[in-house]
Amino acid sequence: MIKLKNVFTASVRVFLLAALISTTVSAPARAEEETGPAFAPPVTKTTAPQIGPGVSNSSKLVVVLDPGHGKTQGHYSGCSFEYNGVKYYEDEITMKIAAYTKQYLEQNSDYTVYLTKDSAEKTVPLEQRAAFAASVHADLFVSQHVDAAPGNGTTCNAYGVSSMAPKAGRYNNELALQSQEAAKTILNQLSALGLHNRGLILRDSQNGTHFADGSLADYYAIPRYSQMYGIRGFIIEHGFINHTSDLTLFLSTEENYKALGEADAKGIIEYLQKAGKNTFAQTVDTSQAPQGASSESKIPAGPAVSLQSTS
Ligand SMILES: [Zn+2]
Repeated sequence: MIKLKNVFTASVRVFLLAALISTTVSAPARAEEETGPAFAPPVTKTTAPQIGPGVSNSSKLVVVLDPGHGKTQGHYSGCSFEYNGVKYYEDEITMKIAAYTKQYLEQNSDYTVYLTKDSAEKTVPLEQRAAFAASVHADLFVSQHVDAAPGNGTTCNAYGVSSMAPKAGRYNNELALQSQEAAKTILNQLSALGLHNRGLILRDSQNGTHFADGSLADYYAIPRYSQMYGIRGFIIEHGFINHTSDLTLFLSTEENYKALGEADAKGIIEYLQKAGKNTFAQTVDTSQAPQGASSESKIPAGPAVSLQSTS
């Protein structure tokens, strides 16, 4: 009887999980870093990094740049804004910023630089972006974005640069602190261009997603997965596309994108010269990763395990 009950409970779980997955798949494609509860979806599976995590044998510093968003079902998923008859797309801007960051970093032979994609036309699932960074033993993983405030085509009052970084004081605390420090270093470089520095944005999961140790996970996927994979990672927002000054002074010309990309690179170099390689991945404690069906409310620490959140 008890066994039958267990079988019944298990099948209910499978049914609920299947329902959860179909809900996730049918959700709007525009589920990106900046807005909405859709951004912290239940995680149903992970792509195991093929190499890492771990510290690479190379003495070079490895930087993974992630140009935000991309085309999904024929439409750009990032923010956009039309000004003076010109339409600006976040997806295209972040691709340009990333290319300039890469170009600048590669002038220095100490750096190996990867992009998570090579075209604004492409989109890559968020977890895959972080898994890729872990797979190449990233010493720093920077997801590059442009902000927008709600208003549906109208200008906004918000302006400046910010970073969605992992929250400290809980799971992988030391790693979170390192990510925050790196993010602040980049924000300082951007603010030296004249952009207002809005600082770090730290947000908790809104749907009850937890890390392996039971602590609440981060809301934004890039810092959340970075914490899980043991890599320093965060989002940098390069000003507001629908704030007139941010757009016209910092986000509308090729020179602007070069300046932003190079400011990111300078911040990356400044931080990594001081902090060195990421040794954290080597010491991530995966022993607390929950096992079996009872672990559905926790996110395991290691990348090569299936993941599930509560809501
Ligand atoms: Zn974005």
